[in-house]
Amino acid sequence: MPLVPVKQLLDEAAKKNYGVGAFNVNNMEQIQAIMQACKETLSPVIIQASRGALKYSNLIYLKKLMEAAVIENPEIPVAMHLDHGNSLETCKQAIELGFTSVMIDASLTADGKTVASYEYNVETTKSVVDYAHKFGVSVEAELGALGGIEDGHGAGLAADDTTHLTDPDQAADFVKKTGCDSLAVAIGTSHGAYKTMRYDAAGNALPPELALERIELIEKNLAAAGFPNYPLVMHGSSSVPQELIAMVNKYGGKMKAAMGIPMSDIQYGIARGVRKINVDTDSRLAMTAAIRKVFVETPEKFDPRDYLAPARTAQYELILGKVKDFGQAGHAKDFAPMSLEDMKAVYAGK
Ligand SMILES: [Zn+2]
Repeated sequence: MPLVPVKQLLDEAAKKNYGVGAFNVNNMEQIQAIMQACKETLSPVIIQASRGALKYSNLIYLKKLMEAAVIENPEIPVAMHLDHGNSLETCKQAIELGFTSVMIDASLTADGKTVASYEYNVETTKSVVDYAHKFGVSVEAELGALGGIEDGHGAGLAADDTTHLTDPDQAADFVKKTGCDSLAVAIGTSHGAYKTMRYDAAGNALPPELALERIELIEKNLAAAGFPNYPLVMHGSSSVPQELIAMVNKYGGKMKAAMGIPMSDIQYGIARGVRKINVDTDSRLAMTAAIRKVFVETPEKFDPRDYLAPARTAQYELILGKVKDFGQAGHAKDFAPMSLEDMKAVYAGK
Protein backbone atom coordinates (compact mmCIF):
# COMPACT_ATOMS: atom_id res chain seq x y z
CA MET A 1 0.00 0.00 0.00
CA PRO A 2 1.42 3.39 -0.88
CA LEU A 3 1.38 6.27 1.56
CA VAL A 4 -2.04 7.88 1.47
CA PRO A 5 -2.95 11.57 1.64
CA VAL A 6 -4.20 12.78 5.03
CA LYS A 7 -7.29 14.24 3.35
CA GLN A 8 -8.57 10.76 2.57
CA LEU A 9 -7.98 9.50 6.12
CA LEU A 10 -9.85 12.46 7.59
CA ASP A 11 -12.73 12.30 5.09
CA GLU A 12 -13.18 8.61 5.86
CA ALA A 13 -13.03 9.35 9.60
CA ALA A 14 -15.75 11.99 9.16
CA LYS A 15 -18.06 9.46 7.48
CA LYS A 16 -17.93 7.20 10.53
CA ASN A 17 -17.38 9.85 13.18
CA TYR A 18 -14.02 8.78 14.61
CA GLY A 19 -10.67 10.51 15.15
CA VAL A 20 -7.25 9.62 13.76
CA GLY A 21 -4.18 9.92 15.96
CA ALA A 22 -1.26 11.79 14.44
CA PHE A 23 1.82 10.62 16.28
CA ASN A 24 5.13 12.49 16.18
CA VAL A 25 8.25 10.47 15.53
CA ASN A 26 12.00 11.04 15.69
CA ASN A 27 13.49 7.56 15.41
CA MET A 28 13.06 3.93 14.43
CA GLU A 29 11.73 2.66 17.75
CA GLN A 30 8.87 5.18 17.77
CA ILE A 31 7.83 4.32 14.22
CA GLN A 32 7.95 0.60 14.98
CA ALA A 33 5.92 1.04 18.17
CA ILE A 34 3.18 2.98 16.37
CA MET A 35 3.01 0.56 13.45
CA GLN A 36 2.87 -2.49 15.71
CA ALA A 37 -0.10 -1.02 17.58
CA CYS A 38 -1.85 -0.01 14.35
CA LYS A 39 -1.23 -3.37 12.72
CA GLU A 40 -2.72 -5.26 15.65
CA THR A 41 -5.77 -3.01 15.81
CA LEU A 42 -6.17 -2.43 12.05
CA SER A 43 -5.93 1.33 12.50
CA PRO A 44 -5.33 3.85 9.73
CA VAL A 45 -2.70 6.25 11.05
CA ILE A 46 -0.85 9.52 10.54
CA ILE A 47 2.86 9.55 11.28
CA GLN A 48 4.20 13.06 11.55
CA ALA A 49 7.55 14.76 11.79
CA SER A 50 8.22 18.26 13.03
CA ARG A 51 10.94 20.44 11.56
CA GLY A 52 12.97 19.57 14.65
CA ALA A 53 12.54 15.85 13.95
CA LEU A 54 13.65 16.24 10.34
CA LYS A 55 16.69 18.18 11.45
CA TYR A 56 17.51 15.62 14.16
CA SER A 57 17.24 12.70 11.74
CA ASN A 58 18.90 14.50 8.85
CA LEU A 59 15.81 14.31 6.59
CA ILE A 60 16.41 11.20 4.58
CA TYR A 61 16.65 8.78 7.53
CA LEU A 62 13.15 9.56 8.75
CA LYS A 63 11.70 9.35 5.25
CA LYS A 64 13.25 5.92 4.74
CA LEU A 65 12.01 4.70 8.14
CA MET A 66 8.49 5.79 7.23
CA GLU A 67 8.79 4.00 3.91
CA ALA A 68 9.89 0.87 5.78
CA ALA A 69 6.75 1.14 7.93
CA VAL A 70 4.62 1.13 4.77
CA ILE A 71 6.44 -1.86 3.24
CA GLU A 72 6.17 -3.83 6.48
CA ASN A 73 2.46 -3.08 6.93
CA PRO A 74 0.77 -3.31 3.54
CA GLU A 75 -2.71 -3.58 5.06
CA ILE A 76 -2.51 -0.32 7.05
CA PRO A 77 -3.18 3.08 5.39
CA VAL A 78 -0.41 5.40 6.57
CA ALA A 79 -0.05 9.10 5.91
CA MET A 80 3.24 10.94 6.28
CA HIS A 81 2.67 14.47 7.53
CA LEU A 82 4.88 17.51 8.15
CA ASP A 83 3.97 19.06 11.51
CA HIS A 84 4.15 22.88 11.84
CA GLY A 85 5.75 23.83 8.54
CA ASN A 86 6.75 27.47 8.89
CA SER A 87 7.04 28.54 5.25
CA LEU A 88 6.31 27.58 1.67
CA GLU A 89 9.97 26.55 1.31
CA THR A 90 9.78 24.07 4.20
CA CYS A 91 6.58 22.59 2.78
CA LYS A 92 8.15 22.27 -0.67
CA GLN A 93 11.05 20.37 0.86
CA ALA A 94 8.69 17.94 2.62
CA ILE A 95 6.71 17.38 -0.58
CA GLU A 96 9.94 16.67 -2.41
CA LEU A 97 10.83 14.13 0.29
CA GLY A 98 7.56 12.31 -0.39
CA PHE A 99 5.32 13.52 2.44
CA THR A 100 1.64 13.06 1.59
CA SER A 101 0.53 15.96 3.75
CA VAL A 102 1.94 19.19 5.11
CA MET A 103 0.92 21.64 7.76
CA ILE A 104 1.57 25.29 7.10
CA ASP A 105 1.32 27.06 10.41
CA ALA A 106 1.13 30.69 9.34
CA SER A 107 -0.66 31.63 12.55
CA LEU A 108 2.92 32.56 13.40
CA THR A 109 5.38 34.27 11.07
CA ALA A 110 8.23 32.23 9.52
CA ASP A 111 10.37 32.62 12.69
CA GLY A 112 7.89 30.25 14.38
CA LYS A 113 7.55 32.67 17.30
CA THR A 114 5.70 35.84 16.35
CA VAL A 115 1.90 35.82 16.14
CA ALA A 116 1.04 36.72 12.54
CA SER A 117 -1.80 38.80 11.13
CA TYR A 118 -4.89 37.16 9.67
CA GLU A 119 -3.95 38.49 6.22
CA TYR A 120 -0.48 36.96 6.43
CA ASN A 121 -1.97 33.64 7.49
CA VAL A 122 -4.46 33.63 4.59
CA GLU A 123 -1.87 34.61 2.00
CA THR A 124 0.84 32.18 3.16
CA THR A 125 -1.57 29.27 3.59
CA LYS A 126 -3.04 29.83 0.15
CA SER A 127 0.41 29.80 -1.45
CA VAL A 128 1.08 26.39 0.13
CA VAL A 129 -2.34 25.02 -0.88
CA ASP A 130 -1.82 26.14 -4.48
CA TYR A 131 1.56 24.41 -4.56
CA ALA A 132 0.74 21.21 -2.61
CA HIS A 133 -2.53 20.38 -4.35
CA LYS A 134 -0.69 20.20 -7.69
CA PHE A 135 1.05 17.14 -6.21
CA GLY A 136 -2.08 15.71 -4.56
CA VAL A 137 -0.64 16.60 -1.14
CA SER A 138 -3.06 17.58 1.65
CA VAL A 139 -2.68 20.84 3.58
CA GLU A 140 -3.47 21.53 7.23
CA ALA A 141 -3.54 25.15 8.41
CA GLU A 142 -3.89 26.79 11.81
CA LEU A 143 -6.19 29.60 12.84
CA GLY A 144 -5.59 31.17 16.24
CA ALA A 145 -2.40 30.38 18.14
CA LEU A 146 -1.67 27.66 20.71
CA GLY A 147 0.07 28.08 24.04
CA GLY A 148 3.40 26.48 24.87
CA ILE A 149 6.49 25.84 22.79
CA GLU A 150 7.60 22.58 21.26
CA ASP A 151 10.77 21.98 19.25
CA GLY A 152 11.37 25.73 19.31
CA HIS A 153 8.00 26.37 17.69
CA GLY A 154 5.45 28.55 19.48
CA ALA A 155 4.80 32.11 20.55
CA GLY A 156 5.44 31.17 24.17
CA LEU A 157 1.87 32.05 25.12
CA ALA A 158 0.88 30.91 28.59
CA ALA A 159 -1.06 27.65 28.74
CA ASP A 160 -4.16 29.55 29.90
CA ASP A 161 -3.88 32.39 27.36
CA THR A 162 -7.33 32.90 25.85
CA THR A 163 -6.58 35.90 23.65
CA HIS A 164 -5.52 33.80 20.67
CA LEU A 165 -8.28 31.21 20.52
CA THR A 166 -9.75 30.44 17.10
CA ASP A 167 -12.46 32.92 16.16
CA PRO A 168 -15.45 30.83 15.00
CA ASP A 169 -16.58 33.70 12.77
CA GLN A 170 -13.26 33.70 10.90
CA ALA A 171 -13.03 29.95 10.26
CA ALA A 172 -15.35 29.75 7.23
CA ASP A 173 -13.79 32.82 5.61
CA PHE A 174 -10.34 31.33 6.16
CA VAL A 175 -11.20 27.96 4.62
CA LYS A 176 -12.95 29.61 1.69
CA LYS A 177 -10.02 31.94 0.97
CA THR A 178 -7.24 29.38 1.38
CA GLY A 179 -8.75 26.05 0.27
CA CYS A 180 -6.96 24.21 3.11
CA ASP A 181 -8.05 20.60 3.74
CA SER A 182 -8.15 20.70 7.53
CA LEU A 183 -7.89 23.30 10.22
CA ALA A 184 -5.99 23.21 13.51
CA VAL A 185 -8.00 25.09 16.09
CA ALA A 186 -6.83 26.84 19.23
CA ILE A 187 -9.31 25.98 21.98
CA GLY A 188 -7.05 26.05 25.02
CA THR A 189 -4.81 23.05 24.38
CA SER A 190 -1.08 23.76 24.38
CA HIS A 191 2.16 22.05 23.41
CA GLY A 192 4.39 20.21 25.87
CA ALA A 193 3.76 18.52 29.22
CA TYR A 194 2.76 21.63 31.16
CA LYS A 195 -0.65 22.41 29.72
CA THR A 196 -2.35 23.75 32.79
CA MET A 197 -2.10 26.73 35.11
CA ARG A 198 -4.75 25.34 37.41
CA TYR A 199 -3.85 23.69 40.72
CA ASP A 200 -5.85 22.68 43.76
CA ALA A 201 -5.00 23.80 47.31
CA ALA A 202 -2.64 20.83 47.72
CA GLY A 203 -0.68 21.80 44.61
CA ASN A 204 -2.07 19.03 42.41
CA ALA A 205 -2.47 20.00 38.76
CA LEU A 206 -6.02 20.24 37.44
CA PRO A 207 -6.86 19.72 33.74
CA PRO A 208 -6.78 22.87 31.59
CA GLU A 209 -10.08 24.56 30.95
CA LEU A 210 -10.84 24.11 27.26
CA ALA A 211 -13.19 26.22 25.15
CA LEU A 212 -14.85 23.09 23.82
CA GLU A 213 -18.00 24.90 22.77
CA ARG A 214 -15.94 26.61 20.06
CA ILE A 215 -15.51 23.33 18.22
CA GLU A 216 -19.24 23.04 17.77
CA LEU A 217 -19.53 26.70 16.70
CA ILE A 218 -16.66 26.43 14.22
CA GLU A 219 -18.11 23.25 12.73
CA LYS A 220 -21.57 24.85 12.49
CA ASN A 221 -20.24 27.97 10.77
CA LEU A 222 -18.21 25.89 8.33
CA ALA A 223 -21.23 23.74 7.45
CA ALA A 224 -23.36 26.86 6.90
CA ALA A 225 -20.69 28.22 4.54
CA GLY A 226 -20.77 25.06 2.40
CA PHE A 227 -18.12 22.95 4.18
CA PRO A 228 -20.09 20.19 5.94
CA ASN A 229 -18.15 17.65 8.05
CA TYR A 230 -15.02 19.79 7.73
CA PRO A 231 -12.08 18.10 9.53
CA LEU A 232 -10.72 19.97 12.54
CA VAL A 233 -7.38 19.22 14.19
CA MET A 234 -6.55 19.25 17.88
CA HIS A 235 -2.89 19.99 18.65
CA GLY A 236 -1.26 19.59 22.03
CA SER A 237 -3.61 16.72 22.84
CA SER A 238 -1.48 14.50 25.01
CA SER A 239 -3.28 13.36 28.14
CA VAL A 240 -0.09 13.36 30.26
CA PRO A 241 -0.93 10.14 32.16
CA GLN A 242 -0.24 10.67 35.85
CA GLU A 243 1.22 7.18 36.23
CA LEU A 244 3.90 8.07 33.66
CA ILE A 245 4.84 11.29 35.46
CA ALA A 246 4.99 9.28 38.72
CA MET A 247 7.19 6.65 37.07
CA VAL A 248 9.58 9.24 35.62
CA ASN A 249 9.94 10.81 39.07
CA LYS A 250 10.18 7.48 40.88
CA TYR A 251 13.26 6.63 38.84
CA GLY A 252 15.12 9.89 39.39
CA GLY A 253 13.20 12.31 37.16
CA LYS A 254 12.30 15.78 38.31
CA MET A 255 9.06 16.62 36.54
CA LYS A 256 6.77 19.20 38.10
CA ALA A 257 3.03 18.60 38.56
CA ALA A 258 1.63 18.32 35.04
CA MET A 259 -1.76 17.56 33.60
CA GLY A 260 -2.90 16.98 30.03
CA ILE A 261 -6.13 16.85 28.07
CA PRO A 262 -8.57 14.29 29.48
CA MET A 263 -9.64 11.67 26.94
CA SER A 264 -13.27 12.64 27.58
CA ASP A 265 -12.54 16.17 26.27
CA ILE A 266 -10.87 14.74 23.16
CA GLN A 267 -13.83 12.42 22.59
CA TYR A 268 -16.21 15.36 23.00
CA GLY A 269 -14.27 17.04 20.18
CA ILE A 270 -14.31 13.92 18.00
CA ALA A 271 -18.09 13.74 18.32
CA ARG A 272 -18.24 17.31 16.97
CA GLY A 273 -15.82 17.32 14.04
CA VAL A 274 -12.26 16.83 15.36
CA ARG A 275 -10.70 14.25 13.03
CA LYS A 276 -6.94 14.53 13.67
CA ILE A 277 -5.48 14.44 17.17
CA ASN A 278 -1.80 15.28 17.63
CA VAL A 279 0.12 13.38 20.28
CA ASP A 280 3.80 13.80 21.05
CA THR A 281 4.38 14.45 24.76
CA ASP A 282 2.75 11.18 25.92
CA SER A 283 5.11 9.16 23.71
CA ARG A 284 8.09 11.01 25.15
CA LEU A 285 6.89 10.34 28.69
CA ALA A 286 6.27 6.64 28.05
CA MET A 287 9.73 6.10 26.57
CA THR A 288 11.56 8.16 29.18
CA ALA A 289 9.83 6.44 32.08
CA ALA A 290 10.75 3.00 30.67
CA ILE A 291 14.37 3.99 30.05
CA ARG A 292 14.78 5.51 33.51
CA LYS A 293 13.46 2.31 35.08
CA VAL A 294 16.10 0.22 33.29
CA PHE A 295 18.89 2.60 34.27
CA VAL A 296 17.91 2.59 37.93
CA GLU A 297 17.07 -1.09 38.30
CA THR A 298 19.90 -2.52 36.22
CA PRO A 299 22.70 0.07 36.22
CA GLU A 300 25.19 -2.53 35.01
CA LYS A 301 23.53 -2.64 31.57
CA PHE A 302 25.06 -0.73 28.71
CA ASP A 303 23.59 -2.19 25.51
CA PRO A 304 21.22 0.45 24.02
CA ARG A 305 18.84 -2.37 23.08
CA ASP A 306 18.37 -3.14 26.77
CA TYR A 307 16.61 0.20 27.28
CA LEU A 308 15.36 1.04 23.79
CA ALA A 309 13.37 -2.19 23.53
CA PRO A 310 11.39 -1.53 26.75
CA ALA A 311 10.96 2.09 25.61
CA ARG A 312 9.51 0.85 22.33
CA THR A 313 7.17 -1.52 24.19
CA ALA A 314 6.01 1.32 26.45
CA GLN A 315 5.15 3.52 23.49
CA TYR A 316 3.41 0.61 21.74
CA GLU A 317 1.17 0.10 24.79
CA LEU A 318 0.40 3.81 24.90
CA ILE A 319 -0.57 3.95 21.21
CA LEU A 320 -2.67 0.81 21.57
CA GLY A 321 -4.85 2.68 24.08
CA LYS A 322 -5.00 5.86 21.98
CA VAL A 323 -6.17 4.25 18.74
CA LYS A 324 -8.98 2.51 20.60
CA ASP A 325 -10.00 5.67 22.46
CA PHE A 326 -9.88 7.85 19.31
CA GLY A 327 -11.99 5.27 17.45
CA GLN A 328 -9.68 4.65 14.47
CA ALA A 329 -9.13 1.00 15.48
CA GLY A 330 -10.75 -1.45 13.10
CA HIS A 331 -11.11 1.00 10.19
CA ALA A 332 -7.98 0.20 8.16
CA LYS A 333 -9.85 -1.86 5.60
CA ASP A 334 -12.98 0.29 5.23
CA PHE A 335 -11.76 2.03 2.07
CA ALA A 336 -9.49 1.62 -0.94
CA PRO A 337 -6.42 3.77 -0.36
CA MET A 338 -5.88 6.71 -2.69
CA SER A 339 -2.53 7.63 -4.16
CA LEU A 340 -1.28 11.18 -4.56
CA GLU A 341 -2.09 10.81 -8.29
CA ASP A 342 -5.73 9.99 -7.42
CA MET A 343 -5.89 13.00 -5.13
CA LYS A 344 -4.30 15.24 -7.77
CA ALA A 345 -7.23 14.44 -10.03
CA VAL A 346 -9.71 15.25 -7.23
CA TYR A 347 -8.12 18.67 -6.70
CA ALA A 348 -8.05 19.32 -10.42
CA GLY A 349 -11.80 18.56 -10.50
CA LYS A 350 -11.40 15.63 -12.88
ZN1 LIG B 1 1.17 21.50 17.19
